[in-house]
Amino acid sequence: MRQADTAPPAGEPPGSGSWGHLAPATRAVRVGQRQDVSDQHSEALVLTSSYEFADAEDAAEKFAGRRAGNVYVRFTNPTVRAFEQRMAALEDAEDATAMGSGMASYSAIALAFLQAGDRVLLARGIFGTTTKLFEYYFRKFGIESTSLAVDAPISEWRRNIDERTRLVIVESPTNPVLGVADIRMLAARCRQTGTLLLVDNTLCTPVFQRPHLLGADLVLHSAGKYIDGHGRCGGGVVTGSERLIAELHGVLRTTGPSLSPFNAWTLLKSLESLSVRMRQHQENAEQIVSWLAGHPAVCAVHYTGRPDHPQAELVARQQTGHGGLLSFRVDGDRRHAWRVVDNVRLISNTTNIGDTKTMITHPASTTHGRLSQAQRATAGVTDDLLRISVGFESPEDVIMDLEQALHGAMQIQRAQPA
Ligand SMILES: *Cc1c(COP(=O)(O)O)cnc(C)c1O
Repeated sequence: MRQADTAPPAGEPPGSGSWGHLAPATRAVRVGQRQDVSDQHSEALVLTSSYEFADAEDAAEKFAGRRAGNVYVRFTNPTVRAFEQRMAALEDAEDATAMGSGMASYSAIALAFLQAGDRVLLARGIFGTTTKLFEYYFRKFGIESTSLAVDAPISEWRRNIDERTRLVIVESPTNPVLGVADIRMLAARCRQTGTLLLVDNTLCTPVFQRPHLLGADLVLHSAGKYIDGHGRCGGGVVTGSERLIAELHGVLRTTGPSLSPFNAWTLLKSLESLSVRMRQHQENAEQIVSWLAGHPAVCAVHYTGRPDHPQAELVARQQTGHGGLLSFRVDGDRRHAWRVVDNVRLISNTTNIGDTKTMITHPASTTHGRLSQAQRATAGVTDDLLRISVGFESPEDVIMDLEQALHGAMQIQRAQPA
């Protein structure tokens, strides 16, 4: 059992026992708060690499995991623990473990739950690096991965999930084209075959979607996106049952992709404003989406809040909101898309998601650039696609910037058919 050193001596009640009666907004500011000897009101940032033991026996018990308490910074820190507990409470999970990045979390999941001969099924269109991790690196260890379109009929998903499938990874919605997975149906199938279902909830955050309530076993966040929300630091966090999280924490203890306590403190404090921020991201995104949809140089707009989203009914069933990520296709080719990126003055040309600042990205040549042309095509990442992570500037200013950038791009001659 892991526990912060200032926790009540009786130990934290497992699962949702201690916060289950509280509303999400309350959990976001109260769970994981502990006071130390200074009576501070804000959560403490504990900076220490080691911890003193009461006596030799205390050290032995804590090392063996028979007694709760802090041991060493690689795998125990009270600030990191507070962030984990708050995340677990927000995702309605029994427990959570945090790591240095989203990709570190994915690697730890593979080490914890997979072995040679296992099969992993990935939804197409998930984060490019996640695909690379499984299809290139873990393939070297005899783990086979296949992929399926996130919006493939559920019968096809059922056919592709069998007893050999150890893990299914979906992002819902996917970045950048915002396809949606039917989490409840997938979870039902995975239960039949003894397969773990992992949902990457980075884009919706628990404010707009709680995959554990739909049956997901593991929920993962790249915490440097909306959870930090200010473009300051990286992090990763996974929530799940106590049993699964204990396995994962064992990998963290052994391989060491730890989250720094400073980053944990930043993320912990950011959770307090997560729901307020997510609602504002969405309000601003909705304005920009409707403007883009009416622009003559734009031939498609992807946003889960659009009534013409191809899976609008499913979106309504499992999401309570849509957040701040959208993508659109310019009426042209890669040169036109690049020109838009080069022309913006206010919007930042960066590849991050979930900052206070609005950012534009050309996914085909950056975030998804390491994928093959074929992989990009099946993920819907076309050369004319641009992604926008909408921040907190006035939407009118962002629209003005896009207007002039699109106007400039459309001056380029279209390639003539040969
Ligand atoms: C950024 C991102 C990741 C990778 O996380 P890092 O923290 O950058 O390692 C994984 N999944 C999604 C959906 C992401 O956006």
